[in-house]
Amino acid sequence: MDALGCALFPAFCTLCGSPLPQLSSVPICDVCWTEFPVLSGPSCARCGDILASPAFDSTQSSAALCRTCRLVPPPFVRAVAFGLYQDRMKAAIHALKYDRLHPAAHGLGQMLAAAIARLASEAPTEMLVIPVPLHRSKYAERGFNQARSLAVHALESLRKSHPEWCLTLASSTLMRLRATDSQTGLTPRQRRLNVRAAFSVSDPSAVAARHILLIDDIFTTGATARSASQALIRAGAASVYVATLARARLINEFSRAAFFDGAEENFTNSPAATVQPASIYSSQDQPSF
Ligand SMILES: [Zn+2]
Ligand SMILES: [Zn+2]
Repeated sequence: MDALGCALFPAFCTLCGSPLPQLSSVPICDVCWTEFPVLSGPSCARCGDILASPAFDSTQSSAALCRTCRLVPPPFVRAVAFGLYQDRMKAAIHALKYDRLHPAAHGLGQMLAAAIARLASEAPTEMLVIPVPLHRSKYAERGFNQARSLAVHALESLRKSHPEWCLTLASSTLMRLRATDSQTGLTPRQRRLNVRAAFSVSDPSAVAARHILLIDDIFTTGATARSASQALIRAGAASVYVATLARARLINEFSRAAFFDGAEENFTNSPAATVQPASIYSSQDQPSF
C-alpha cells in the first residue's frame, strides 16, 4: 500500500514546492510541518479571537472577552484553534478538502489534538465529539467530511496523550438541514443568514445532558459554530466546546461585532458595506464555512 501511495504523489512538497528528500505518502516537507502559523498572544476567553490591543484589564486577562462575545455571548463555552488560517495552514486545508490529500489528515489531526488538549484542564472528563456535518449533497460531491477525518485522527492522538479523557466520536448526531451555499463572497449578514437554523439533532436523547466537543476545520466568523452549538443546546446538551484546526484572523473587530448585533442592518445597508466585509478577513479566499 505504501509503495502505491508513494507512487501517486510527486516528489515535491505540495505547500512550498521544495523537493522532498524521499518519496512519502504525505507530500508535505518537514520544514512545512514545523512552520504552520500558530496562535499566540492574548485572545478572547470565549471564542479565542486574537485581542488586538491590551485594552483589557491585564489583571483579568484570563477572562478578557472580545467585543463580539461581550455584545452577543456565544452558545458555546469556549472555542480553541491550533493556528491561523493563512499561509501553509490555508494551503494544507485546501489540499485536504479540495485536492483530497487524505494522508495529510493525520498530521493536521495531531495539530487539532494539540488545540483540544488546551481544554483538558477545564472541559468535562466525558464528552461526545461531534464533527460539523456537511449537507448530504455536498458530502456526495466531496465524498468525505474533512471535519470528521480531522476528528478521527485527533482522537487517535488524544487517546495516547490523555488516556483518562473519555472522548467518544458521534458523527451522525448532528445533521445539516440545508445545502448552504458556499460562504465565499458573502457579506457577514448573508453568512449569518446562510447558516441560521441550518442544523438539527437527529436523536435528542443522544445529546441530552451530555457535554459536546464540536469539531470543524476552520472558524471564520463563528456563525457556523454558533448555529451548530445552538441546535445542540436546544436538543438538551449540557455544554458545547468548540475546537477547530484554524481560525481566520479578523482585522476589524467592529465588523465582526456588527455581524451578530442589531447594528448589522444599518451596517450592511450602508454604501460602504459593499467593500467592508472583505476587510474583516486577512485573506480574500474564504472557506466555505
Ligand atoms: Zn514544504
Ligand atoms: Zn470572543
